[in-house]
Amino acid sequence: MRYLIISDIHANLTAFETVLKDAGKLGQDYDFVWCLGDVVGYGPDPNACVDLLRSLPHLCLAGNHDWAALGRLDVRTFNADARKAVTWTRENLTDGNLAYLEALPTTFVLGDFTLAHGSPREPVWEYILDPLTASLNFPHYQTLYCLVGHTHTPVTFKLLPETGDCQPFTPVYNEPETLDRYRQIINPGSVGQPRDSDPRAAYALLDIERITWEFRRVEYDIDAVQARMRKVEMPDRLVARLEHGW
Ligand code: ZN
Repeated sequence: MRYLIISDIHANLTAFETVLKDAGKLGQDYDFVWCLGDVVGYGPDPNACVDLLRSLPHLCLAGNHDWAALGRLDVRTFNADARKAVTWTRENLTDGNLAYLEALPTTFVLGDFTLAHGSPREPVWEYILDPLTASLNFPHYQTLYCLVGHTHTPVTFKLLPETGDCQPFTPVYNEPETLDRYRQIINPGSVGQPRDSDPRAAYALLDIERITWEFRRVEYDIDAVQARMRKVEMPDRLVARLEHGW
């Protein structure tokens, strides 16, 4: 079984479509999609992104922006730009897509894999940005591997059994690598709003028979997304950040 691993689409349809095209054909190059949350928020195409995801065989987890669009959390914790995007998203999502987001689980476990949007300890909220936070999360899940999104930065944190240290590894792109048997927390990065100074859409491919993982990056038409964002009067800062990858 081969999985397409995506996260943090953030209503960016152009990036999402480009990733699907780059990943190849469903049934040939991958069989199922795992989406680690934040399908909506920030971008101009929330319904089209949810519709496209729903058209694929997939499992999707709840992200903080998905919950914010549902009014499930207090958006006063968001900055002003994010708050404006959330309000617009909430007003524009169809009832059917709101109901879909409403039903998303916060964690999922299959075989050697645990999935969460943020972290196994705080699935919707916590950012695993550094080895210390990663190491504090290892006791909070049982499987060998944990997949998370939320930070919009591709990375692997491995727990080294010899020393008990947690070490970060930056991704090598477009090269399948065999997953070793260390416990590790892997983040595929963000499809629709990368924040690692690389504006290309990020995703990954996982083959659970071969136990291989491949980080990928792909360029997409950022101008087209920015034009649609301006049309719906998204804040300038949110428009600009796409081309800078932050
Ligand atoms: Zn996000």
